[in-house]
Amino acid sequence: MASSAVPRPVRRGVRDRAGNRCEYCQHPESHSSAPFTCDHVTPRVRGAGDTPDELAWACAACNGHKHAKTHATDPQTGHDVPLFNPRRQRWGRHFTWSPDFRHIIGRTATGRATIEALHRNRPQRLNLRHVLFIVGLHPPEKAQETMVIEYVNAHGRIARRDAVELCRLSDDEALSLLSRLVAENKLQRRGVGRGTYYELANE
Ligand SMILES: [Zn+2]
Repeated sequence: MASSAVPRPVRRGVRDRAGNRCEYCQHPESHSSAPFTCDHVTPRVRGAGDTPDELAWACAACNGHKHAKTHATDPQTGHDVPLFNPRRQRWGRHFTWSPDFRHIIGRTATGRATIEALHRNRPQRLNLRHVLFIVGLHPPEKAQETMVIEYVNAHGRIARRDAVELCRLSDDEALSLLSRLVAENKLQRRGVGRGTYYELANE
């Protein structure tokens, strides 16, 4: 459930923590016509409060379909199971992308039930994912790569702390992203220790 009563600094923190993406469908807020909102992971009517641990950043569609639900039916087994909880569960454990990155696929009962309940494979959303994929903004991992390469194109280099800030990653995640781009020959590592930075790899 959404609430406009969540204090602004808390909202900002929840949004930043999510990297400006819906924590249910991973859609980027930068490419949404409707504003995103603070979702109470456990609906407020069931006693949830406004602390960051009880909130998730959600697109209007996921938030609207979730409403006061906490459980939904797993289409595979017919069992009633808890919906995905972004505060306690990892997205990648419960969901994955189809090979063309258009559909979200459930890996668990909770994943499948959440996809159905939140209508996360709506035709309009599939079309949007396809377009975002073409311009390098979907899936999220691809979007991070696009942002890093654009940053290096603009500034000549990037340090790990820049990638942390730019992509809203942890230190380890930023290092792993930069290392992958080095392994894929898209960037090259320069300098040592704290002075390490990354440039575009030579053609
Ligand atoms: Zn969503």
